Amino acid sequence: MIKFLDNRLFRYLSVFLFLNSSILPVKSSSALAAWAINTNGVLELRTKSNTNLKAYFQKANQISGDRFWVDFPGELKNPRTIKGNGQIKEIRLGKPVKGKTRLVIEFKEETYLNPLTWQLVGLDQNRWRIKLFNPKNSFKKIGEGLVNKTRGKIKANKDLIQKKKNNYGFLKLPEVKRNKFEVVIDPGHGGPDPGAIGIGGIRETDVVLEVSKIVKKFLSEKGVKVRLTRTNEVDLDLPPRVSIANNTDADIFVSIHANASRGKRRDINGLETFYYRGWRGRLLAKRIQKQILRVSPGSPDRGVKQGRFYVIKNTRMPAVLVEIGFLTGRLDARRLEKITHRKRLAYAIAKGILEYLDKVG
Ligand SMILES: [Zn+2]
Repeated sequence: MIKFLDNRLFRYLSVFLFLNSSILPVKSSSALAAWAINTNGVLELRTKSNTNLKAYFQKANQISGDRFWVDFPGELKNPRTIKGNGQIKEIRLGKPVKGKTRLVIEFKEETYLNPLTWQLVGLDQNRWRIKLFNPKNSFKKIGEGLVNKTRGKIKANKDLIQKKKNNYGFLKLPEVKRNKFEVVIDPGHGGPDPGAIGIGGIRETDVVLEVSKIVKKFLSEKGVKVRLTRTNEVDLDLPPRVSIANNTDADIFVSIHANASRGKRRDINGLETFYYRGWRGRLLAKRIQKQILRVSPGSPDRGVKQGRFYVIKNTRMPAVLVEIGFLTGRLDARRLEKITHRKRLAYAIAKGILEYLDKVG
């Protein structure tokens, strides 16, 4: 409901004008929830829903300057005075009588006001606005609480946040048939074999183990059974990694690694995914490569390639080996250090896997 109180409220009298009134039980708390005088001279109010307000204006006299005030039903707890700036001398929140709240805005003497033009406008069930003056120089906003807090707004904000999350692509992993698929994830190296050592001593074994564990988490949430070839820093030869996969009914095998360039060149960065044979392996590699590139902007696409690595050559199911970046590269290493980037990569790998499973089944 939107209520417009479009009456010219104010008589240019020494006394007042007012609009509707409503009576709340004397004991109820103040209907004034928040207020603000913005830099453009507009007073905004937020009240309890369906509150009726009385507004008044009084010309300056010997005691005080021009004053505008609004009375609200319900009693104010803490009467207070707030210092103004610009044309506003001060704002007082008071309790004129028991069970009421009064917001008084007192202007400085030299302020020229034209209350005949003032309109108190109801914007919503609980929001009000009135233009009081044109700030001469810069007027600094004064207020208490959040005047914009309305249900509609909160929902709009939530929708916006949701949208942002969707843009990040973090919410929507593809759905696949639950409890149908089994995937083996192989974090490269481990134990005495740390794999590549990158800038600042960052170790491949640590990075790929963490990424692998997060991939497992994402896939498990989608009802995919996941087996990791290692879950801690153990020395695991290549043949046992392969037999873990071959001894189960795994649908696919994904080995996760990070690169190092010869001579530790910092200008070499990029991502690549290998498969050994078959259109399924190639398709899986393509899906994963596409997704990891999306979360690694600026890092070169080194492509989907055939490779004769032991673990993908000897596994019986479609198998790929992913290189998630160069630990020796300036760009990649800085990212791979961060848990947020590791999560993004894990998400991307999981997404590629789920897309593949959904398609090939
Ligand atoms: Zn490696």
